[in-house]
This record gives sequence, structure tokens and C-alpha cells, in this order.
Amino acid sequence: MAKHVKTIEEKSIWEDARQMLRKAERDGVETAWDRLAQQTPHCSFGEGGICCRICTMGPCRISKKAPLGVCGADADVIVARNFGRFLAGGAAGHSDHGRDCIEAFYAVAHGETEDYHIKDEQKMLRIAEELGVATEGRELLDVAKDLALEFQESFGTKRDTIAFIGRVPEQQRESWKKLGIMPRGVDREITEMMHRTHMGCDNDAANTLLHGARMCLGDGWAGSMIATEISDILFGTPSPRKAKVNLGVLKADQVNILVHGHNPIVSEKILEAVNEQELIDLAG
Ligand code: SF4
Repeated sequence: MAKHVKTIEEKSIWEDARQMLRKAERDGVETAWDRLAQQTPHCSFGEGGICCRICTMGPCRISKKAPLGVCGADADVIVARNFGRFLAGGAAGHSDHGRDCIEAFYAVAHGETEDYHIKDEQKMLRIAEELGVATEGRELLDVAKDLALEFQESFGTKRDTIAFIGRVPEQQRESWKKLGIMPRGVDREITEMMHRTHMGCDNDAANTLLHGARMCLGDGWAGSMIATEISDILFGTPSPRKAKVNLGVLKADQVNILVHGHNPIVSEKILEAVNEQELIDLAG
């Protein structure tokens, strides 16, 4: 069957993106869509998750003719291991965003930086009280030092669970306990996923996937939640407002800097810098 080449209208529902794709086509600039076309059809073993490259006895591909890898892993185990490592990469990236925020917050608390400040003091005190950090009669920065440590503990292995576990509804907590998926710490769950999915370790697909759930809960209820709370403390709690989005933000008569990602540690500083007169003059 002839390969269907997508039209620009099929590639995006947004007019701004369509305009940009037309311009790329006119200018001969390669986009992800061109590379996708070159990569299609994808490798069916890779797409089905039944290709394993975890050890040097492989790579092994599962088929009717060869239903087990060299180590004896079947399709279910290989799919679960691949999916588990896929999740581990996402949880690591997502939670490292939280770690960056903790490092900035720690530096503020210890007076190691002038670049970041506590903007929402009330929020910081509220979170400190929620997590059992004493606030009464204490200097703000002393509370911040203890709170930064409290956040760091959610990444390590010193304790048996994460700081914000108290936010999880009781019934939910009970079902996590019953399933054995109560997250213990961000780094611990990610490391355990890498360990379990190594050759000859966890050869029970359902068990691997349950650990995937535990690891993702650690990311969501610790790494990401901490990142959100610290962002509010350092940069102010946001409120809804109307704003321009997508490629419509580009301006022909200005220097356009596109920052990828939603980690505010760098983007907030760029935002401050672009409003400095010296840079405005340089742009002119
Ligand atoms: S872990 Fe097993 S299935 Fe994977 S590459 Fe090694 S031998 Fe093959």
C-alpha cells in the first residue's frame, strides 16, 4: 500500500503551526514531520515492545519462531521491562525538575544566592506546618532550611515514605498499602525499577508493572508536587490570566527566545533579564 503523505492541514489543527510548516516547506527546513515520514513504518518489534537490549546476550526479538529471549524472558516480561524503563526515564526527568527547585530553595535558605528569593512567605509557612516543620517564633530562613531538608528526604531512602503522603486520601492510601505500592522515595523507586528490570531479576510482568505504579506515584506525589510548591514559594503563587500562546507569541521586530520546558529556575531569570535596559538597548 502506498504510504500516505500527510497534508499540512492534517499535521496540525492550529493556524499558527500550519503557517510555520508552510514556511519550513518553502525554505527547505526539515521538521519532525519529515523525519517521522522517513522513519515510517517503524520497526514492528520495537513498536510492540518485544525487542530486548538489556544484556549483551541479546538483542532478542520475540516471535512465534522464537518465543523466549536467550535468558528465558517471554514477551510479557520483555514488554513490562521495556515499559518499566520507559516510565523510569520519565519519572527521573520529571522529578529532577523538583530536585532543581529544591537546590535553588536550599541555596536561598542558606544565603548562597541573591538571584532567588522567597516570594510567597505565607505559602512557605503553610507548607512547613503541613509537613511538621516548626515555624513559631523562628526566622523565615531557618524554617526554609528545615523545609529544604524535608523536601530532600522525599528523594532519598532514609524514611519509609514521602513528605506529602498526608495529602493522599485515607482510602487511597489503604489501597496503595494493600497493593504494596506505597512510594518510599523518588530516587529509591527509580533505582529499584532499573534493578528489577535488569536481566534475571524481576521475571513477573505484573509485579514489574505494580512497581511502575509505585515509582510514578513517587514522582507525582513527591518530585512533581515538591516542584510545584517550591515554584510558588520562590516565584509567587500564580493566578489565572489571559495570555498569548503558541507561535503567535513571536514578533518580527523583536529578539525571540523560545525556552523549552516548564522548569522556572532558568526561564524566570531569562524573563527578568530581558526586561533589563541594557539588553533592551542591545536588541535595538
Ligand atoms: S535480558 Fe534476556 S531477553 Fe534481554 S537481551 Fe538479555 S538475554 Fe535477551
